[in-house]
Amino acid sequence: MYIIFLGAPGAGKGTQAAEVARKLKLVHIASGDLFRQALEQGTELGIKAKSYMERGVLVPNQITIEMVLERISAPDSKRGAILDGFPRNLEQAEALDKALSREDKAIDKVVYIKVSEEELLRRLSGRWVCRQCQTPCHATDSPPRVPGRCDRCGGELYQRPDDTEESIRKRLEVYSVETAPLIDYYRRAGKLLEIDGVGGVAEVAGKITAALGG
Ligand SMILES: [Zn+2]
Repeated sequence: MYIIFLGAPGAGKGTQAAEVARKLKLVHIASGDLFRQALEQGTELGIKAKSYMERGVLVPNQITIEMVLERISAPDSKRGAILDGFPRNLEQAEALDKALSREDKAIDKVVYIKVSEEELLRRLSGRWVCRQCQTPCHATDSPPRVPGRCDRCGGELYQRPDDTEESIRKRLEVYSVETAPLIDYYRRAGKLLEIDGVGGVAEVAGKITAALGG
């Protein structure tokens, strides 16, 4: 079973991908980790990817796809995998489908975690991070015990410059422009599961596993 998770920044995609992978005993493949691991292990693909990253250019789709294929062929992926952070656009999705079909594999389902723009804005703009230990908290969802101070180490809390309302709106706009054709593509393929992303982590994970029939 190969499942893709989609969701805007702040929708809880990474958290849900990890939670559902644990529940269904699937491997969670976050694209960031994929690059990190390949670099650490010094695999051929990792070295290739590094040469692009060092030049400050995007790693070509083909290399990323080969990394994904390599990862889902590993013994621990036998039951299946959840892809988190890849594909990001239509071109990557089509290339991934082609590559999978050459190996007699296919994406089974695509989980799209839907959260309204207002709620995303609320979640993202309330985010504060500790200057010392980087622990995040949220102004209303998980407020610090002492205002302005980290619960964990007492360090000063600050808001990242890209967590201001204006830059959040820009990020959400970029995401939706890139992702809309992708969502359409999987909907037409009959693979899209739209999940309401409002609620606690366990609640949303429950809705996802129910939709997946697990
Ligand atoms: Zn701290």
